[in-house]
Amino acid sequence: MADPRETRVLLEHAEDPALRTIDGYRGYGGYATLEKAYREMEQDEVLKELEDSGLRGRGGAGFSMGKKASFLPRGEMAKYLCCNADESEPGAFKDRELMQRNPHQLIEGIAIAALAADAGHAFIFIRGEYAEQADILDAAVAEAYEAGYLGKDILGCRRDLELVVHRGAGAYICGEETALLDALEGKRGNPRLKPPFPAVQGLYGGPTLINNVETLSNVPKIVANGAEWFKGFGTEQSPGTKVVSISGGVRRPGNYEVELGIPTRELIFGLAGGPEPGHEIKAFYPGGSSSPVLTPAELDLPYSFEAMGEAGSMLGSGSIIVADDRVSIPHMALRTARFYHHESCGKCAPCREGTNWTVKMLERVVRGEATPMDLDIISSVQQNIIGHCLCVLGDSMAMPVSAMVNKFRDEFERVIAEAGMPIAIVQGAPEALGAAT
Ligand code: SF4
Repeated sequence: MADPRETRVLLEHAEDPALRTIDGYRGYGGYATLEKAYREMEQDEVLKELEDSGLRGRGGAGFSMGKKASFLPRGEMAKYLCCNADESEPGAFKDRELMQRNPHQLIEGIAIAALAADAGHAFIFIRGEYAEQADILDAAVAEAYEAGYLGKDILGCRRDLELVVHRGAGAYICGEETALLDALEGKRGNPRLKPPFPAVQGLYGGPTLINNVETLSNVPKIVANGAEWFKGFGTEQSPGTKVVSISGGVRRPGNYEVELGIPTRELIFGLAGGPEPGHEIKAFYPGGSSSPVLTPAELDLPYSFEAMGEAGSMLGSGSIIVADDRVSIPHMALRTARFYHHESCGKCAPCREGTNWTVKMLERVVRGEATPMDLDIISSVQQNIIGHCLCVLGDSMAMPVSAMVNKFRDEFERVIAEAGMPIAIVQGAPEALGAAT
């Protein structure tokens, strides 16, 4: 059951298992917007509605979805739409729920966005570990073809759209949009040099619109109800609702859909129940493990793109990971660095060498072999990574590690002095945060 403090738009009726089927979805008015868009609207009208709504990408970067779609050149050429369903950021699991509970909402969003981008081929690139969700999508796509919402001459409107569900092989880097394109083309998933940007030269060299699952799931609602309706939720710079994944040291981890701009405290304490009795929050990642950690002093900030940015962090994928007072921050930093080091594709030196060095230095810290001066070296290595990599993966490690060393330097120094702390275990999520090194 939905918590009354939520504002459910994308997760509306999500508790009804019938929503997975095309009949169940149509029972709630599903595909009526696709019919309206294909029968009554021109490409520019759909595009304008999306641009006017101010919808920002929900995958991490937060760029305007409508603006991104408008960058695709006009003219007779093969254009593509890719739905990024490679949800691999530690702490993020909201796209999984959206695909699992309401696959047709996503398919309808893709079909309408393809109209806005004039794309004739679309792909859902889903991470390999989401096998159940991929099966659900395969079944839903087959139903949509059967009903005439996909394929040739959709609804007799002389528009075609082929949609393929493509399963990834489990590499985090394939969530980076250009690595995703390489992987779709059958190559090793390595980020490409930009420019050219995918909107100009993307999949198979053609103009390509790439959007996240949650972003595309918003499209039918916006086109059905209008940009002004959408802007009635959230803040001026962060309109709409957001499905927020909350995990770590809270009593009720899960996905919660709220209006952007809600106080962060309301999310962590109100909806997710706050920390276990007898414990306090020490830090939290506001936007997945690549976001710089914030402290309890920042709990009253609005949960929005702008407020998180002004606080020196980011909303990212909208995934809050809470570390309570049992978590060792140096161990959490090491775990974070190890993840990104493991997932680095190795194509550029600052990330390949920087993640490796950071792991080695943090291992020295938790073993008690480092000196306080090493903390300065760790910070300086992070500064040499940030902004110097081919893609954002290097920054994804450097930003949170840098924030942890800066904000919790006392704890790092104490660990060094005491030659290692007891390993922290977060009850209910022992592997999640800073556990065994
Ligand atoms: Fe590869 Fe890391 Fe460079 Fe990205 S930043 S291209 S993951 S080495």
